[in-house]
Amino acid sequence: MSKVSTVYGPVNSWRVGSSLGLDLLCVDSVCSFRCVYCQLGRINVRTAERRVYVTTTRVLEDLRASAWREADVLTLSGSDEPTLAANMSEVIGELKRLTRKPVVVLTNSAQLGDAQVRRKLCAAERVFCKLDAADGKTFRRVNRAVEGVTLRSTVEGIRRFREEYAGRLAVQLMLLPLNKHQTREFARLLEELRPDEVQLNAPPRSPARVDD
Ligand code: SF4
Repeated sequence: MSKVSTVYGPVNSWRVGSSLGLDLLCVDSVCSFRCVYCQLGRINVRTAERRVYVTTTRVLEDLRASAWREADVLTLSGSDEPTLAANMSEVIGELKRLTRKPVVVLTNSAQLGDAQVRRKLCAAERVFCKLDAADGKTFRRVNRAVEGVTLRSTVEGIRRFREEYAGRLAVQLMLLPLNKHQTREFARLLEELRPDEVQLNAPPRSPARVDD
């Protein structure tokens, strides 16, 4: 049976142009959040454990077999949270060495409290950080994070990352019935975080669950 590739696309993205996606977990849906609007339907493994899920060698093999030359950027996202991959910085380094293309990372921001994760992310040219709530109750209802991750720890992680990161930082906000009343609070948080860009998104379909 052939293995599922860790590389997909390129696909056209309104945010970054032609983007080749790389999935560093690729084994299951693995994330430290279980967002109500998640397009994966259900996160099978909710964890904050960082480990090597897919070897760097396998990712690079898949890259070489792909149409990477047609892409403007290489994007770490996929069916899970890329900062949970312990080999993320090794992969970013190899991607840049082999392709000379900019690397974008989409993260849920939950692991940014960890200095090691922030250091690894600094190798990317662009980082998109998720922030969907302006108070703890909404954070719990929307993102349903693994134990130990709170809105405060997430915001503090983004704030520290902003101080250390010289690349282009975007904050991504998914507008939902659960958080759309928090415009002023979001504005205050964004002033504190000083991203280069704010991306307002709407879910393409109604969230599947709000309370499990
Ligand atoms: S952070 Fe992304 S992958 Fe994780 S549950 Fe939320 S939407 Fe799904």
